[in-house]
Amino acid sequence: MSDYAIEVKNLHKRFDTFTAVDNLSFQIKKGSVVGFVGANGAGKTTTMRIISTLDLPSEGKVWVDGLDAINQAGEVRKRIGWMPDYFGKYKNLTVLEYLDFFARTYGFRGHEREERVNSIMAFIEMESFRHHMMDKLSKGLTQRMGLGRALIHDPSVLILDEPAAGLDPKARIDLKRLIRILSEEGKTLFISSHILSELEEMCDSLLFLDKGALIHHGDSHQLKRSSETHIHMDVKMSSDNEKLYAWCQEYPGVSLISEHSAGGILELDFQDPEDRTRILKAMLDADLPIVDYHEVSKRLEDVFVNMLENQEAE
Ligand code: ATP
Repeated sequence: MSDYAIEVKNLHKRFDTFTAVDNLSFQIKKGSVVGFVGANGAGKTTTMRIISTLDLPSEGKVWVDGLDAINQAGEVRKRIGWMPDYFGKYKNLTVLEYLDFFARTYGFRGHEREERVNSIMAFIEMESFRHHMMDKLSKGLTQRMGLGRALIHDPSVLILDEPAAGLDPKARIDLKRLIRILSEEGKTLFISSHILSELEEMCDSLLFLDKGALIHHGDSHQLKRSSETHIHMDVKMSSDNEKLYAWCQEYPGVSLISEHSAGGILELDFQDPEDRTRILKAMLDADLPIVDYHEVSKRLEDVFVNMLENQEAE
């Protein structure tokens, strides 16, 4: 038995002469929640579609729960739940009819089918919408119904392509709650999103993709640390900034990158934690009236943009 829910090895996908996925390799442990990050066109959907057996690679191998996604696609489909970023809405079909249709295609019959659809409807909290026409649902309810459809055969691995795109804050919170419950049930979740702060909250680790190639795989703290060539410190003072500004001009490796009414954000060109103390001491020795001094965490968005810039520079 494999420890990995998903393994991708030397994956390539070419569309004519264009390379959408470029020698991609990664592993996702069973039971983990992994985010898939990349700019538009980075190759996320293409990779997810290949893992979900909806497309074939030009080269490379993919395994789901240790099964070959190319040669054992039928077995893999039983284990995988795929939620695309966009799915067609059928006219004249209610939510109940839609989910019932998919339950039927997965082989549920009679009472078992009714029970399955009811339990999914309860999980996605859409019982009161069962007779609503699916093409009239809000974006949030449509996404929840899509999640219900992906779950109908009780897959162990869920692949969600941009599930939170276009959702309002309440719908995003609802979706996040459902994802958390699925994770607690032991399912593996592989989720693409452009909303990095949300992925950071939900995911055990993040995969960063650029032009079809993997540029980083790690948890968000590691990602932030590994990209750090400098530290940001928030300084508050009891007087205006003139003294602080003058001091920063003189002191090597320190710059004031933004100002508050009394204080600002200092960028220290150091990585060693002891440097933070050294700088504070130097400011106090210079009689700067410091009342607060603490590190501010970088946003994942900034880390991602930095990473892309470094990639361009290389
Ligand atoms: P987004 O965040 O915008 O959804 P993505 O990271 O999911 O982007 P993909 O949809 O995988 O990116 O597309 C990767 C690249 O492959 C894009 O340049 C896209 O135009 C191209 N591509 C995808 N599918 C095809 C196809 N069937 N034929 C030709 N090119 C394709």
